[in-house]
Amino acid sequence: PLPGVMVPGMSPERVRRAVVGASNVLGSPAYSCFVSSEAQFRDMLLLEVNRGCPYGCRFCAAGSIYKPPRHAEMAALQEIVERCEPHKVGLVGTALTDWPDLLPFLRWLAERKVKFSLSSLRADGLTDELLGFLRHTGTRSVTLALEGASRRLRRAMNKHFSEDAFLEAVARVSRLQFGTLKLYMITGWPDEGEEDWAEFEEFMSCVDAARKAGQGNRKKGVELVSLSVSCLVPKAWTPLQWADTPDEDRLKAAMKRFKGIVGRFKGMRFAGENPAQARVQMFLARGGEEIFPCLERAAEIGLPAAMREHDALVHDVLLRHAERDTVFPWDRLEIGVSRKFLYSEWVKYRRGMVTPPCPQDGCQACGLCGMDDFQSLPHGR
Ligand code: SF4
Repeated sequence: PLPGVMVPGMSPERVRRAVVGASNVLGSPAYSCFVSSEAQFRDMLLLEVNRGCPYGCRFCAAGSIYKPPRHAEMAALQEIVERCEPHKVGLVGTALTDWPDLLPFLRWLAERKVKFSLSSLRADGLTDELLGFLRHTGTRSVTLALEGASRRLRRAMNKHFSEDAFLEAVARVSRLQFGTLKLYMITGWPDEGEEDWAEFEEFMSCVDAARKAGQGNRKKGVELVSLSVSCLVPKAWTPLQWADTPDEDRLKAAMKRFKGIVGRFKGMRFAGENPAQARVQMFLARGGEEIFPCLERAAEIGLPAAMREHDALVHDVLLRHAERDTVFPWDRLEIGVSRKFLYSEWVKYRRGMVTPPCPQDGCQACGLCGMDDFQSLPHGR
């Protein structure tokens, strides 16, 4: 069998993921096969800067399924850009500001008059130099991920988040006169409630104060703070796979609360994901082969109608409660991160304990999550 490929009905019972790249180096970065004015990212060559994330946020599938963390080499990305000659490049990665060549590469693109855009950034990776360069080259908005409403939730999800660094980043963004600050958040965490939301309200006052402080007397700077809230979808191969799916009414109540909080501040805007749509995602993310009849029907009448027809099945999938030894449909794909590690992270989620990020020295010096063993086996790398 081809390493890393599963053919339903023909592959062995368990299939191992194939991992590309020696430790720390992403040998063959992914990039768009087609660049088109009709694509979702219009006329943009998407280019992968890093794969695998060292921070280990417990809700994030990319943090688990792409381990270990590896960076592309600048020369490899330059070769792709020279060959494809795009007008615009979109940099994709798990932690863009961790890439040591980010600024030199952006400068190289700017010299060639190639436009660029970056996905969301970590607040603690925003230097004045990087922000100044982005502003100078015409970027008008910055996106920062907040993820959880309160310190307790961010700690439980292992976000490695510093409130001070975040507020400092907001002030800097405003000082450098970016017009829009986009904030991302997720709601629907197990046990999330009024205490977390009240803390969030206070934190948004601090965000508002930080952007005003950055504006100074000029009254210019971040004019719009846009908060985007999505619903937690407990994902396969993450510690949160043991969490119950959040209830639709609870999600609606949370969205209402966030909308109310944001509405208190002038120059802030709220956009919330529709909880009913998130439930569709949850159904697809959590179901196994038993949902195939519903998907087959969806090809004829569309997914929402097919889900209505298979109402009992949908409820069964969404209300399924997982225990420590529950076998998940996705367990037959081995991703390299051990189940034992994932479960210990779920226990730490519930206890509010943090796990440090991957060390610089790589997996062999660490051995925490099982990727060291996995890569030493045939086809592991
Ligand atoms: S073994 Fe350690 S360094 Fe390697 S992916 Fe796991 S946690 Fe990160």
